[in-house]
Amino acid sequence: MADVQMADAETFAFQAEINQLLSLIINTFYSNKEIFLRELISNASDALDKIRFESLTDKSKLDAQPELFIRIVPDKVNKSLSIIDSGVGMTKADLVNNLGTIARSGTKEFMEALQAGADVSMIGQFGVGFYSAYLVAEKVIVTTKHNDDEQYIWESQAGGSFTVTRDVNGEQLGRGTKITLFLKEDQLEYLEERRIKDLVKKHSEFISYPIYLWTEKTTEKEISDDEDEEPKKEEEGDVEDVDEEKETKSKKKKIKEVSHEWQLINKQKPIWLRKPEEITKDEYASFYKSLTNDWEEHLAVKHFSVEGQLEFKAILFVPKRAPFDLFDTRKKMNNIKLYVRRVFIMDNCEELIPEYLGFVKGVVDSDDLPLNISREMLQQNKILKVIRKNLVKKCIEMFNEIAENKEDYNKFYEAFSKNLKLGIHEDSQNRAKLADLLRYHSTKSGDELTSLKDYVTRMKEGQKEIYYITGESKKAVENSPFLERLKKKGYEVLFMVDAIDEYAVGQLKEYDGKKLVSATKEGLKLEDESEEEKQKKEEKKKSFENLCKTMKDILGDRVEKVVVSDRIVDSPCCLVTGEYGWTANMERIMKAQALRDSSMSSYMSSKKTMEINPDNGIMEELRKRAEADKNDKSVKDLVLLLYETALLTSGFSLDDPNTFGSRIHRMLKLGLSIDEEETGVEDADMPPLEEDAAEESKMEEVD
Ligand code: ADP
Ligand code: MG
Repeated sequence: MADVQMADAETFAFQAEINQLLSLIINTFYSNKEIFLRELISNASDALDKIRFESLTDKSKLDAQPELFIRIVPDKVNKSLSIIDSGVGMTKADLVNNLGTIARSGTKEFMEALQAGADVSMIGQFGVGFYSAYLVAEKVIVTTKHNDDEQYIWESQAGGSFTVTRDVNGEQLGRGTKITLFLKEDQLEYLEERRIKDLVKKHSEFISYPIYLWTEKTTEKEISDDEDEEPKKEEEGDVEDVDEEKETKSKKKKIKEVSHEWQLINKQKPIWLRKPEEITKDEYASFYKSLTNDWEEHLAVKHFSVEGQLEFKAILFVPKRAPFDLFDTRKKMNNIKLYVRRVFIMDNCEELIPEYLGFVKGVVDSDDLPLNISREMLQQNKILKVIRKNLVKKCIEMFNEIAENKEDYNKFYEAFSKNLKLGIHEDSQNRAKLADLLRYHSTKSGDELTSLKDYVTRMKEGQKEIYYITGESKKAVENSPFLERLKKKGYEVLFMVDAIDEYAVGQLKEYDGKKLVSATKEGLKLEDESEEEKQKKEEKKKSFENLCKTMKDILGDRVEKVVVSDRIVDSPCCLVTGEYGWTANMERIMKAQALRDSSMSSYMSSKKTMEINPDNGIMEELRKRAEADKNDKSVKDLVLLLYETALLTSGFSLDDPNTFGSRIHRMLKLGLSIDEEETGVEDADMPPLEEDAAEESKMEEVD
């Protein structure tokens, strides 16, 4: 029989990364090996979910095996442990693809995490839980039957390859999968009833299918001799050891009867049907873990039911951290499982929760949806729309509850602030509520983060708007010239240094009736203190009008216009962008996007206005020189240098850093009084300072 099977065994090589993973699992010491059982039961449960869902629209799919179950069979004689499910099973192609030749995106990530000291129990989160079987087994055999294919056997001792064989002669499963682990010599504890029961209780208690354990019971029985004519033959599934104690001539004798039975070892009453007051934190945690494969507890939970016209129950969880692939667009991040009257329907129901809340996990059990609902029907379903609205509301409530504890909220915010900001961008209905959850560093917040609400309480008298600056990092913006005047006036400025802030604030526009104003854009109008001062300013402005014109002539298309600034106090000048165009920061973000549409950047990219500070010494000197001689070469040099420097201090990047560098070097030489002739450097080798000079030097190089 074995030979027949061997004959048509096909051998496959494990995909390289999977092979590496297997070596790591087998050769590294991990103390937490027990999690293998949770992973295999979780896979069984997934497979059962699949067939149950299929059967909702086609009852005949259950024909081959109407019962849905998970069975665990320890076999001390063969030192093997089998996990059997009547789930969907795998076709031959599934076997080859899912168990060895196609690596999940998480394979590499998981190995990196492991090598960085992560616990092996994280395996399920990375989508490679099956391979945890090799924590305890030296050989694994998977027998499986899918409705659409014959029964097949997958077998491997790791070591680079596995075989797949058509199973003609083996016990037929009808439908489902049997995974048999041949345990390593030092892992035989997993054959003990007690150990298995404890493990199921610990990790798999809330699996919604019955988990049966094949248990052994020994009873002693006294029987009289004459009853005992012949030892009973072994019955189906029952083994009876008859131990005859030959008490000579005695009428009675004792026999040990060993019987076997399937013992149900999980509760499976859905936790969401119970009253929240009666559920302990540990129970929620253990439900959360079995729902998500997370190895850590949840950060927050919301358990509620909605009654009235529409009825449903739900439990929502916020994890402690973001998954490794939170913003992986290939993967649909949806973690709300949908049940209809206790029956699992699907686990990635996009209509149930908006994308930005994709990190929230949980279950929803509706009494009103039809059992045989299809994905197509879901899209137009009104009930689902109402459920969705409620879930979003409850999520926001839950986030506000987290915010009551600062430490927890910091954790939450670090992990999911991007999602909240995405929500601000996308969810106009809840925008205002989400805005309450935002936190930023600011000119006044120190090391802490501030909410918009707290910002408003700190607003100075006469301050009507909320100010912010966007940029690459706190460091890059906190000393920005744009903040000078605002700081002097005592106005707080929020630092928005997350790429997504640009998008979010663009949609938010205002908070609590107060406009959000960018410190780096045109249109920043700060009220002046007195009429007198206004007058003085106007006069100054006038005296700089000519310089502005000269500068615009020199800078040409580089800037839209040159004006006297209202926002800088110390710096000589800065570059602001149009109120509705991109900021410097946005320009940086868009440049970093490899696939951006370049036509967009031509009209969105910043129309820059140069703002100059009339109170700055450099500007005053420049004004004098320009007045004396409009064509003074040093004026031209200085203006270009000021422009390039302003690009940097205003958060833009230089198109041509080399020319800028050369200009600086030339300034250094001037500062150090190095006479160029004396050093023997010819003029022609000098870096060009103007564009026309650039042409010349190119010609020289050709020579
Ligand atoms: P995940 O469960 O995250 O998909 P696993 O490594 O645990 O990753 O399992 C890999 C795949 O193997 C599953 O997605 C499924 O297609 C298949 N599989 C594993 N166990 C079973 C089973 N008991 N029944 C059917 N398919 C299974
Ligand atoms: Mg799995």
